[in-house]
Amino acid sequence: MATADSLVSSDVPIFDPDAWRLTSQQQELCERVRVLGAQNFAGRASRYDREASFPTENYKDLHSSGLLGICIPESCGGIGADLKTYMLAAAEMGRYCGATALTFNMHVSSCLWTGFLADTLDMSEHERKEHQTARMLHYQRVLEDGAIYAQPFSEGGAAAAGAKAFGTKAVITDGGWIVNGKKIFASLSGHANYYGVLCTELDNMDADLSRRNTMYIAVPADAKGVSVVGDWDPLGMRGTVSRTLLFEDVFVPANEKLMPRGIYFRAASRWPHMFMTLTPAYLGIAQAAYDFTVSYLRGELVGTPPVKRRMYPTKQLAVAQMRMMLEQTKAIWFQAISEAGPDPKKESIMRAWTAQHSVMENSNAICQLAIRTCGGQSMLRSLNLERLYRDSRCGSLMLPWTAELCMDMLGKATLYESGESDD
Ligand SMILES: Cc1cc2nc3c(=O)[nH]c(=O)nc-3n(C[C@H](O)[C@H](O)[C@H](O)COP(=O)(O)OP(=O)(O)OC[C@H]3O[C@@H](n4cnc5c(N)ncnc54)[C@H](O)[C@@H]3O)c2cc1C
Repeated sequence: MATADSLVSSDVPIFDPDAWRLTSQQQELCERVRVLGAQNFAGRASRYDREASFPTENYKDLHSSGLLGICIPESCGGIGADLKTYMLAAAEMGRYCGATALTFNMHVSSCLWTGFLADTLDMSEHERKEHQTARMLHYQRVLEDGAIYAQPFSEGGAAAAGAKAFGTKAVITDGGWIVNGKKIFASLSGHANYYGVLCTELDNMDADLSRRNTMYIAVPADAKGVSVVGDWDPLGMRGTVSRTLLFEDVFVPANEKLMPRGIYFRAASRWPHMFMTLTPAYLGIAQAAYDFTVSYLRGELVGTPPVKRRMYPTKQLAVAQMRMMLEQTKAIWFQAISEAGPDPKKESIMRAWTAQHSVMENSNAICQLAIRTCGGQSMLRSLNLERLYRDSRCGSLMLPWTAELCMDMLGKATLYESGESDD
C-alpha cells in the first residue's frame, strides 16, 4: 500500500528549470535524482531512521545510476558536475532521505576537492601530473567498484572549525605514512570503503603541528589499525551512522594521497563556498516539510484520511509564512551557489554565510511550523514529518559553518575591515 513517504512521484522540481534558468545538465541531473529519490529512497527512509542503519541499498542505486561519479570530471569518466550543479541535484535527494543526501555529500566532497576545485587551482606541472595519477586511482574505484568515500574531518576541537591544525598525525615513513588519531561524527563509518582523512603531515610524532601541513589522504577501511567505536543513537540524521573512527599506527601507502602536499590548505583557503556543501540535504528537507503540509491540509496525503483542513485562516497564514521562508531561503542559497568560485569577494563570502545560516535554521523552523500547523496526527511516526523535523535540527551544528559561527563571522566582517582592530 502507498504510504505518506511515497506521495512523491508528482513532486515538482525545487528549482523550476525555466524560472531559475537551469542548464540542461542541471535539469537532467535534478530529474534523475528526483525520480530515484521518489521511487526508491522515500520508501526506505523510515527504516534507516528507525534502525539508525546505513542506506546501503540507496548507495547501490547511486552506483548503478552513475550518480556516485556525479562530480568526477568528464575527462576522468564521470558526469563532471560542477559545484552548483551538484548542489542543485543533492537538494532533490534531501527531500526523500536526509541521511542519504548528507552522507552522499561526504562521498561527493572527495570528488569535488580533487576534481572541480583542484582543476581551478594553480599547480606546477609536476603537481598536476602527480595529482592526475593519484585521483584516477580513486575515481576508478568509485566508477568501477562503487567504492564509497567518507569525509571524517571532525576531532571535537577547533580543527574542523578551521582554527587549528588537525590532531590526527600522518608521520612520513618508507612508501607512505603511519597515521594515528581519532575522528568523531564520522558519517558512513563502518560502511565507507575509504576514509578521506584530513591530518597533519609530520617528519616525526613530536614535530609541531601546522595547518599548512594539512594532508588529505584516503585510509582504506580495511587497513590494519582502523577501528570504528562507540554507538550511534542520535536525535536525527540517524542513517548517517556517524560513529567514532580510531587510527592506531595505520600504514597508508603513498598512492592513497587525495591531493598533493599543500594543495588542500590552498583549496580550503581559496574556496570557502565548498563549506556550503552540507546545506543541500537540509534545503531538501525544508521543501519536503512544506510539500507535506500543503498535501496534508488539502486532505491529499496518501495513507491519511481525506480530511481537509485548509479552510482555517490560521492555517493559511502559517502556510503563507512557510512559503515565504522557503522562497527566501531558496533565493539566497541559489544566489550563493551561483557565485561560488575561487577567491570570492568579501560580499560574496558574507552572502554564503547568510545562505548557510538561512538554510540550516529555516529548515528546522519550517519543519516546526509544519508540525504545529498540521496538528497532532501529523507527528505520528507513521508519517515522515516528525523525521524531517528531527533531521532538520542537525544542520546548524555542523562545522565549520555552524549557525553560531556564521553569525559570529558575519557580525565581525560587517563591522571590521581586514586588519582593523580597536586596540
Ligand atoms: C548528523 C551529523 C553528521 C556529521 N558528519 C560528519 C562527518 O561526516 N565528518 C565530519 O568531519 N564531521 C561530521 N559531523 C560533525 C560536525 O561537523 C561537528 O564537528 C560536530 O557536530 C561537532 O560536535 P562538537 O560537540 O564537538 O561541537 P562543538 O563543541 O560545537 O564544536 C567543536 C569545537 O569547535 C569550536 N567551536 C564551536 N562553536 C564555536 C563558536 N561558536 N565559537 C568559536 N569556536 C567554536 C570549539 O573549538 C569547539 O570545541 C557531523 C555532525 C552531525 C550532527
